[in-house]
Parts: sequence; C-alpha cells; structure tokens
Amino acid sequence: MTYNRENHPCVGFIMENASAALSHMEKELVEDFGELCNNHYLYIGDEGKRLLYKCKRCGGYILAQCYELYGDDEDEYFVDYFPVTCVEEAKDLNLRFDGYQIKEHFVGKYITLDNYMNAHWGVSSISDA
Ligand SMILES: [Zn+2]
Repeated sequence: MTYNRENHPCVGFIMENASAALSHMEKELVEDFGELCNNHYLYIGDEGKRLLYKCKRCGGYILAQCYELYGDDEDEYFVDYFPVTCVEEAKDLNLRFDGYQIKEHFVGKYITLDNYMNAHWGVSSISDA
C-alpha cells in the first residue's frame, strides 16, 4: 500500500457546530467493519457496528459507530462519528477499543447523533491515554 499524503479526516470535524458538520458530510461507504473485532464489540448497548465512510465533499474519512438500545416501548438509536485520517487508523481504533473505550480514549472531538437526531460534540474524559 502506498502512503497517500492526501489522507485526512472530513473537514466537518473542524466546524464549530456539530449539526452543520453532519450536514456537510456526504457519506460514501468504504468498509463495513461489522460488530466484532479482536474479541470485543464495536458498539455500545444491545446491537450495533462500525462503518468507515469517505466524505464525497472533502475526501476526508469518518468512522461511524452505530448502536441501538432496546427499550420497553421503543428502541433508541445513536451514532458516534470519529475523525480518522485513513483506513489504517480506523482499523487500529477497532483493534484497540471496544464501543465504550473508543469514546473514553479517543483523542480529540467526535460527534454523537442521538435518538432525537440532535448532534453533540463529545470529548474524551481522559486527557492523556
Ligand atoms: Zn467532508
């Protein structure tokens, strides 16, 4: 594999507004990582998976963690979007972190889209891993 200096995260991740960042993203699926990696789950809650997207607008990468919480009445759906520079970085995060760990240890800001389609910035609680 050749090193590509054009590799970068989607520029949406440098925007101030999380909703604006998500509206910027025009996602094209690069790879479906499924639900398991390195004997841990790639999601939080009851069901989910991780997907790697490339943004058609800027050519940047987005690692999405989709998950579902089963409820008594209705299920709730969430998506975390993490900025990654390349396919290898996404695979490395999958190898190292399960669904909870990635949110704790991710260096930098990520976006969470909640069940009500509201977008929030999330920041790791651990400053230095
Ligand atoms: Zn983009």
